[in-house]
Amino acid sequence: MTDEILKRLTLINMFFFSNKRVLVFILFVSICIILGACSSSSSDDTDDPVGLLWDYGSGSLGPSNWASLSVDFALCGSGTQQSPIDILDDRIDDAPAWQFNWGASTLKMINDGRNIHVLYNPGSSIVDSGVAFELKSFHIHVSSEHYYQGNPFDGEIHFVHESAAGNFAVVAVWITEGTEHKDLPIILANMPIVDNETFDDPSTFVRARDFLPESGDYFRYDGSLSEPPCTESVTWVVLRQSIELSTNQLQFFENVLGENIRPLQPLNGRVVVQQ
Ligand SMILES: [Zn+2]
Repeated sequence: MTDEILKRLTLINMFFFSNKRVLVFILFVSICIILGACSSSSSDDTDDPVGLLWDYGSGSLGPSNWASLSVDFALCGSGTQQSPIDILDDRIDDAPAWQFNWGASTLKMINDGRNIHVLYNPGSSIVDSGVAFELKSFHIHVSSEHYYQGNPFDGEIHFVHESAAGNFAVVAVWITEGTEHKDLPIILANMPIVDNETFDDPSTFVRARDFLPESGDYFRYDGSLSEPPCTESVTWVVLRQSIELSTNQLQFFENVLGENIRPLQPLNGRVVVQQ
């Protein structure tokens, strides 16, 4: 057993000792250690629910090879408006206002082997220039995918929206390590930690707005989905102010998710606007 694994188990024990789900997670990790099969994103993972294998690793299924894994993933290599990017302050202008209409949702989650998606009930949306984009789901990356002036944050939440015409808009919230987030425990306590596991409880609720910062200032640019198929014409709204999660909350996601970051993509002349 390596020092790193011991450190992770100790951290989890310190913070979540009384949590039943995390005790199950500790048992899961322990069994993995015994079997020598801990990585949920390894290249020999064959239970991909979307049917097309890719991962975030440095191997043959990783980001540098996504475009060659399927003709449907071609834009991951040939696209010119890809995400994530490094947001630089010298590329600014005035951005149009957005309108948030986010309500509550019953708590539904799925672990797809690469990330844990919180699936949102219909009825929550953002509106841009009269077009409504419905909030479909949100998930977390540790650390951040988007950088600010050359530096990553400790994490990033992506709120994925889709319009009736099938266009995407993603609201991104940066995370810095700090105080414990009071609205996260309900997610952590029920989080599906095994590939393809789901959670669905109509009596438990989550509010996406609880994970927004106080300030509504944001950057906006035209990008892509930051995972295969890397679809372009995605509107990105990256909020300028970050929210805080505690060290242990971030560590829990890192332990469950492992590496889930796509490297920075070239701007190719795109302009980032801000409000
Ligand atoms: Zn994402």
